[in-house]
Amino acid sequence: MTSAKLLPFGTSIFSEMTRLALEHGAINLSQGFPDFDGPAKIIEAAEKAMRDGHNQYARSLGHPLLVQAIARSRERDFGTRYDPMTEVVVVSGATEGIASSMLGLLDPGDEVILFEPHYDSYPACVAMAGAIPRVCTLRAPDFALDLDDLAALFSKKTRLLLLNSPHNPTGKVFTAEELAGIAALCQRHGVIVLADEVYEQLTYDGAKHIPIASLPGMRERTLTISSAGKTYSMTGWKVGWALGPANLVAAAQAAHQFVTFATATPLQVAMAHALTALGTGYLDQLRAQYLERRDFLAGALRSAGFEVQMPQGTCFLLAEFARHSKLDDRGFARELVERHGIASVPLSVFYSSRPEKGLLRFAFCKKTETLQAAARRLEALARR
Ligand code: PMP
Ligand code: GLN
Repeated sequence: MTSAKLLPFGTSIFSEMTRLALEHGAINLSQGFPDFDGPAKIIEAAEKAMRDGHNQYARSLGHPLLVQAIARSRERDFGTRYDPMTEVVVVSGATEGIASSMLGLLDPGDEVILFEPHYDSYPACVAMAGAIPRVCTLRAPDFALDLDDLAALFSKKTRLLLLNSPHNPTGKVFTAEELAGIAALCQRHGVIVLADEVYEQLTYDGAKHIPIASLPGMRERTLTISSAGKTYSMTGWKVGWALGPANLVAAAQAAHQFVTFATATPLQVAMAHALTALGTGYLDQLRAQYLERRDFLAGALRSAGFEVQMPQGTCFLLAEFARHSKLDDRGFARELVERHGIASVPLSVFYSSRPEKGLLRFAFCKKTETLQAAARRLEALARR
């Protein structure tokens, strides 16, 4: 019964791997959600918001308290300024933000440039908008951008380029030079950038997240998407936002008003509180904890004979498993969850054209105990 547009995309890999993890009692390092709660203060703020009567539809563009808090924290962290009432729209998670932006900006037949590997919702949203994907492959092992490959994809029909940095699933943080190259091409061809920056606060080893909107000439053509999910460890709240010049925000809003109309009011009020009360100290602590988790999991995988590619950002790392199996990544991911009790995501699911089949993605946004338990299972696997 599913429409021909959506049929090729099947069930999201994240639902599938989490289901398999539950079925096999496996440690779930597949879906990228923290297995711990965000700060208690935010939960208390949500409870209070409900008791204080913040229970009806919010302003469609976002609760005034939240849009103001988003604009303030964006300026504090990245130096870019947005008018809270006209240049911000609150959405139900970055997932909705990406979908509403594409639905609001694209006409059937428009071309959209994607980098692969890519987050699973991107090609599905392009299809829902009736647009056509053009895919630039970032090649393993370093996933560096080949600017000539990218330049070759632009045409008269190119309307949008979707850039995700820090990048899921590779953990790559696009460099200043790569961003400048992308920016120059988008300006030359009059292309809009949809910048998915949900991992903007999760960078390590001195890597710096540079919002592409902060480059000269890019503010007016960039719609930046972010989300409270990862930064505040509340992925289930689905509070996200898009920031950009008023004309781009209005386009996303044109769709958003008919997709969800508004995002859960008490959660918006609570997130406004979080963004205001939890300052850079919270963010520094978050990064330090994630760095420890990254290093611990990388160490455990290396000891077990996996080759790890250290990510500079996000909460994911890629590991090569050639020493353990001749299977492809889908086959080995299945074996790992069924026989060894660890769920991961095969990298090949993040591709539309030229899949890498020798790497698995592991999420490290998990409690120390969870990662320690995974390490014990990896040790057992290595001893076989
Ligand atoms: N984009 C990327 C790159 C992601 O990894 C995720 C998952 N956090 C999302 C978008 C979706 O975010 P949300 O949960 O806020 O919808
Ligand atoms: N962003 C998360 C990941 O990459 C999953 C989000 C989802 O389940 N849709 O694992």
